[in-house]
This record gives sequence, structure tokens and C-alpha cells, in this order.
Amino acid sequence: MAVDVVVVGSVNLDQVIEVAALPVPGETVQGGPIIRLGGGKGANQAVAAARLGCSVALVGAVGTDADSAQLRAELVAESVDVSRLAAVEGPPGHAVVLVDRQAENVVVVSPGANARLDSDTVQAAGDLIAAASVVVAQLEVPLPAVLAAARLASATFVLNPAPAPAELPDELWPLVDVLVPNRTELARLCGVPDSGLRAPGEVARLAAGLPCERVVVTLGADGALVRDGARTELIAAPTVRAVDTTGAGDTFCGALAVALAEGRNLADAARFAVRAAALSVEQTGARTAMPTRARLAAAGE
Ligand code: ATP
Repeated sequence: MAVDVVVVGSVNLDQVIEVAALPVPGETVQGGPIIRLGGGKGANQAVAAARLGCSVALVGAVGTDADSAQLRAELVAESVDVSRLAAVEGPPGHAVVLVDRQAENVVVVSPGANARLDSDTVQAAGDLIAAASVVVAQLEVPLPAVLAAARLASATFVLNPAPAPAELPDELWPLVDVLVPNRTELARLCGVPDSGLRAPGEVARLAAGLPCERVVVTLGADGALVRDGARTELIAAPTVRAVDTTGAGDTFCGALAVALAEGRNLADAARFAVRAAALSVEQTGARTAMPTRARLAAAGE
């Protein structure tokens, strides 16, 4: 059965430990209890889109252990179609996250099954991918899988180039309909230092130099900058009491996919995503904070 949005990407088990201060190399510190949370950019973006009312399938890979079964069950509970989520021998992706009292964190990702998502698994989901209104991918899974998804997508292919790549392969660029980097990812793609990228004018100039006509740069509390061909628009974020911005980027990408699947133009879709992402920073946790359509409607969207 066709779905509106297909996400091709990672599934991780995040293990979060709160510490008073992050350890320096060679140091051992005591931390709080281990908090286990479903994560991974692919899974998070799929959940964000599903909460906003779209039918969503996730193409990816988990392992064969109990953790993998739990990750799969959590996605099912969020109404994400996991029928094309492969089970490969071994553990799923894990992320070990240390967070201090100032909300600074360090993260180590062990990709596990994500590293084994191959183009054959993506090809096997070709029917769903080709029929979807929007296909979304990130870079926490191998590039051949992302390329396969981009080639199979027949409507809109959205790439969130995260984690920040030094460059994208030449053959991928013409397949990307909408690129959604944050400031760091834009800076990396353009080969400039991240620290110089505060002014929207500079962001717009760099976005205009990318070999992609439609770019949405997320700007944290400053909202998002949309480049749609010759038009550039800065969309301000509503002022909110930001408690935890973890997962704001994933909420934004999931919401953008929903709005594009509903037929909105890029600027309107980005406006919708800015409002959804703003709600997600008002609560702690990545997935727990992602708004439902009802919460977004109550906020006036
Ligand atoms: P993260 O890695 O924390 O998930 P990111 O770096 O990928 O986020 P950001 O650009 O920081 O992405 O944030 C994504 C979107 O979330 C922004 O475009 C904005 O709409 C919203 N957002 C983030 N921080 C705030 C904030 N403090 N106030 C309002 N909206 C915010």
C-alpha cells in the first residue's frame, strides 16, 4: 500500500547518561542512571512525520537482538510502517550520549546495523519509494543506500546532509530536489568555517552557490532560510522558551516532508516546519517533544 512519506535512514538506541561535568581524556566520572531512548535521524524524522498525521514508512536496518525488537516496537507504536526495516545479524546502531548540567553533550555513535543498510535493501522497497509523495534521507546510513533511494524516488527527494559531509558525490546532486542543511552542514558543504556563518545574508549567499535550486537552511532560534530558485526568504522562528533543542532538526525535516506531501510550496512548507520545530524545543527529549498535529493546531497552525 502506498504511503505519503518514505524515510530512508538510521535507527539507533540512544543511551544517555547525565554527568555533573563532561570527563576530560583519561578521566573517569560518576554519572546518573542510563536512560535508554529510541533515536537515529531516520527513525526520528519518521516519527516526527507520523505524529503530524502522514502515512510514513521507514526503510533502514536494525539488528536481531532484544534492543532491535524494542526499537521496532516503538516505531510501530508511533504508526510508522516498519515492513521494510531489515533485520541484519548483530546489534542495532547505538549512540552513547553524555550530557552535563549546562546541556553540553558528547556523543559517540556505533553504527551497528545502520552500516549494513545496502542498496539491495533499498531497491527491495522500490515500490513504496517510487509511489511516495516525498522521500527523505540523511547521511547516517551508507551513501550507496542514499543514492539508491534518490534514484528510485519519483516525486520529491529531500536530503538532510547530516552528519555534516565534507562533500556529496557528484551523481547525488542532480537527484536532490530539496536540500535541508543546518548552518554547520552548509558551512562544511561550502568549505567555509562554521563560525563565520551568523548573518542571514551570508547564509543566503552560500545557499545560492550550491548546485541545488531548492535549499532550506535551518538556523536554530533564527528560524530558516528558504532558497527556491531565484527567490530567497527568511522565516523567523516564533519566540519560545527553549528547554531542550535535541531533535529540533529532525522535527523540522519530518514536518517539512509532511507539508510538501500535502502539496504546500517550499516556503509554506518551511513555515509549517519552523512552527513544528519551535514546539519541539519547549520540552525535553527528542521524540517525546515532537508535536502531534493536534498540538500544532492548538498553537495556531
Ligand atoms: P539539532 O541538532 O538540535 O536537532 P539542528 O542543528 O539540526 O538541530 P537547528 O537549526 O538548530 O537544527 O534547529 C532546527 C529548527 O528548529 C530551526 O530551523 C527552528 O525552526 C527550530 N528551533 C531550533 N531552536 C529553536 C529555538 N531556540 N526557538 C525556536 N525554534 C527553534
